[in-house]
Amino acid sequence: MSNVRFEALKTAKEHSFAQVTPSCTQENERVKDFFARDVFTRAKMKEYIAEEVLEQLFDDVDNGRTIHRDIAGNVAIGMRKWAMDHGATHFTHWFQPLTGGTAEKHDAFFSLTKDGELIEEFSGDSLYQQEPDASSFPSGGIRNTFEARGYSAWDPSSPVFLIGDTLCIPTVFVAYTGEALDYKTPLIRSTASLCHAAREVCGLFDKTVKHVHVNLGWEQEYFLVDESLYMARPDLMLTGRTLMGHNSAKSQQLEDHYFGAIPQRVLAFMRDLEYEALCAGIPVRTRHNEVAPNQFEMAPIYEDVNLANDHNLLVMSIMERVAQKHHFRVLLHEKPFAGVNGSGKHCNWSLQTNTGVNLLAPGKNPYQNLQFVTFLVNVLMAVHRHNGLLKASIVSATNEHRLGANEAPPAIISVFLGKQITEVLDKLEHATAEEGIIINAKKEMKLGVANIPEILLDNTDRNRTSPFAFTGNRFEFRAVGSSANCGGAMLALNAAVAEQLMLFKSEVDRRVEKGEPKERALFDIIRNYIVACKAIRFEGNGYSDEWRAEAAERGLDCETSVPLVIDRYLAPDTIRMFQLTGVLNEAELHSRSEVKWETYAKKLQIESRVLGDLVINHVLPAAKRYQTMLLNNVLTVKQVFSADETAALNEMDYSIIRQIESHSAAILKGVEAMTEARHKANRQPDERAKAIAYHDTILPLMADIREHADALELIVDDELWTLPKYREMMFIR
Ligand code: ADP
Ligand code: MG
Repeated sequence: MSNVRFEALKTAKEHSFAQVTPSCTQENERVKDFFARDVFTRAKMKEYIAEEVLEQLFDDVDNGRTIHRDIAGNVAIGMRKWAMDHGATHFTHWFQPLTGGTAEKHDAFFSLTKDGELIEEFSGDSLYQQEPDASSFPSGGIRNTFEARGYSAWDPSSPVFLIGDTLCIPTVFVAYTGEALDYKTPLIRSTASLCHAAREVCGLFDKTVKHVHVNLGWEQEYFLVDESLYMARPDLMLTGRTLMGHNSAKSQQLEDHYFGAIPQRVLAFMRDLEYEALCAGIPVRTRHNEVAPNQFEMAPIYEDVNLANDHNLLVMSIMERVAQKHHFRVLLHEKPFAGVNGSGKHCNWSLQTNTGVNLLAPGKNPYQNLQFVTFLVNVLMAVHRHNGLLKASIVSATNEHRLGANEAPPAIISVFLGKQITEVLDKLEHATAEEGIIINAKKEMKLGVANIPEILLDNTDRNRTSPFAFTGNRFEFRAVGSSANCGGAMLALNAAVAEQLMLFKSEVDRRVEKGEPKERALFDIIRNYIVACKAIRFEGNGYSDEWRAEAAERGLDCETSVPLVIDRYLAPDTIRMFQLTGVLNEAELHSRSEVKWETYAKKLQIESRVLGDLVINHVLPAAKRYQTMLLNNVLTVKQVFSADETAALNEMDYSIIRQIESHSAAILKGVEAMTEARHKANRQPDERAKAIAYHDTILPLMADIREHADALELIVDDELWTLPKYREMMFIR
């Protein structure tokens, strides 16, 4: 009898001993030789497109104006030429549906004339807008109630690029009536809203600021597992995580993996991955081992949030492709293995003016420092007021397993500021306006109590348990899941801060109009804000039980059930905020929540079915086989030995036989109950009720079944076990 697991282990061993040299990089090639090789950058556009066309295009893009169709026509000609010069035969609109990931539909660069002659062609219309037959993408009802058609439309602010023989055009995906069906559309809207609001507030300090940029620097965590072992685990293949598996005796206790030497085989993968990412213009710079065995991280230099998000999605697909070349599978799931750290995608977020000032970094003079404190405190206010929504923006069926555990950001959103900033805010809070702002005879302003040191980047002062931390010159939203589209979290944060800045600006204006000096009004409002949003600030251990109790007392959102957290999208203050900022209307919010509930229930449905199959087809047969061996042994002993001797000789066998019996019976009972619960959940009248039923009834049953299956793994003869074990999957050599 062949055992799939042993065959997989043999192949994995062969992979480990095979050649590990990366295949991409040429000798003597340097990064500057191949960076953005596959991207139609502005510099390359100049070689292919007329100067006056480009001038108009760049001006429109930089000022957020819609591109004229004639311009698109001219751009398309140059774009096709460049793409075909580099071997492209096809083009695709590349978009970000609500399923997560990206979608594409390829068309060739030719069409037929009326006479049936083939001509190479790529029209402005093809670049500008497409109508993919994408009726199967989730729309949460928008496309049933409005108009069935969905359009993808060119996003000229993100450059086109090549993947193999295909020109990829970043696009938004919207319904015929204009409702967003993707992540990119509201992300762009939220950025525009935030840029505008931030510029208005900057105007209080520096009239020369014309534009504010929103930056995102993501850190992508992931696991690698050998391809042959992956193939022998139906749960990994179908759900992205192990639904069972006993902890390895050695896992991350010794913390010897974190920042450790990267195994040769993994290093070869990383070098190929970085090469391809750099060719695609993604400025990846950092790589290291993460906390859990087989867990790694890569991070680029931060970029404009829209481009950075495109790059993150692109990197996720490059990773999967490159991993296969190295006989690995990359696991982007937030929690592929129980009992060890999960994976996140820290989103480093900041605001920067066109004059080069980072609005979240302490400045060089009192005005800049007051500006810094203004933005910092407004972010705190926004996070405080919308902490439930920010949590909703990061929850999912997969991230759920990471948020509950004591090893990742907790399911309560709070902000960590560090000692220095906390002191600054405490002083401001207790100062009188006269103490706070000092204006001397020469009309120079001084921040009396808030002398903020210029360099605050104290790396030791970093609370790893905080879901949202200030790290010296940016905020780091750490609760975002490794498999997520960061757009979901970023658009919520952008919109919340945009709304807050609008409220702030109108309050300042109102008081100045009444004759109050501007600095005094600013100071006073900020001081009020510091008091109003105090509840969101937390410097302690975010994993502790005391914090959970305290957070509830402070009135922070402590809901842990994912389907109920999703409700926050439809809370009245959320709807108002998204409407005011023009990011999402009520219909879009309803559709998004529907999609989230539907996806949640579907993912759990698949997991529950796979778990049922695994225990029935793998675990119980192995257990039964072993039990039969033991039973036969009992009989043989009885035949050979006297009755007195038999009892002692069979003692261990009896005990194991009984344990197998009890675990097997529990599993069978559990699977029956789970199937029944699934049928009941599927009969629920709407997506929300279905998601709640899956959360409340199926998740606990799955955990129970797993416990018995894991117990059997420890008892059953290793030779009979067919699923690769944790200890075999988690240590790449
Ligand atoms: P760490 O793991 O120590 O937080 P990494 O070096 O792994 O840091 O990643 C930090 C990320 O933050 C990088 O993507 C980096 O470019 C980004 N980053 C640095 N400064 C800023 C900033 N001002 N705004 C946004 N992102 C930033
Ligand atoms: Mg990092």
